[in-house]
Amino acid sequence: MGLPRVLEAIGAACRRAGRRPEEVRLVAVTKGRSVEEIWERVLRHGPFPLGESRVQEALRKMELLQAEWHLVGPLQRNKAKLAPRFALIHSLDSLRLAEALERVGAREGVRLRVLLEVNLGREPQKHGFLEEELLDAYERVRAMPHLEVLGLMTVPPVGPEGVVRPIFRRLSQLADRLGLPERSMGMSDDFPIAVEEGATLVRVGRALFVD
Ligand SMILES: *Cc1c(COP(=O)(O)O)cnc(C)c1O
Repeated sequence: MGLPRVLEAIGAACRRAGRRPEEVRLVAVTKGRSVEEIWERVLRHGPFPLGESRVQEALRKMELLQAEWHLVGPLQRNKAKLAPRFALIHSLDSLRLAEALERVGAREGVRLRVLLEVNLGREPQKHGFLEEELLDAYERVRAMPHLEVLGLMTVPPVGPEGVVRPIFRRLSQLADRLGLPERSMGMSDDFPIAVEEGATLVRVGRALFVD
């Protein structure tokens, strides 16, 4: 597709849903892509936030590219000290990780911005809180002074619209219920559906890099 067409598709989905395009941010997921590709396919078009799923790969690229970096993949607790390098961590998936991040935030004197990842598809191989754990987890993380919970994130099971749309809708309902503004949902195959269902951050990789 390429970035201009991804933005057009976000705009079209906003019109269908009666939303304003400014409500949706494109996070360009750049894992596995070279610095040259990221420049050519993303940053040449504007200062988009960049999402990486592996900390080490992100750190290497940070040396070479000026951008707002987001972590979208799982963060191991032994790498928690690197969290302050990211403007937003989409993938806070356990209370033990939250406690580790809280200690890092306290030590460095910073407040880390996070999203709680929710495993709405209840897939055993996926990360995130189960829906019934979410309220308690939110209350606990919200009480940590060096973490700022901005919203929720989900990665739905692979499947057709009939599978993913209800999951996106549910994530929006849960965020509404908790009074949280951000919903990180939608990837290359399904971001227009996610926008129709209330996404504020779409995490798009492949569609930006292949025509
Ligand atoms: C890779 C990845 C994406 C982007 O997926 P594409 O299918 O390439 O758009 C989004 N979110 C997470 C968590 C990812 O790991």
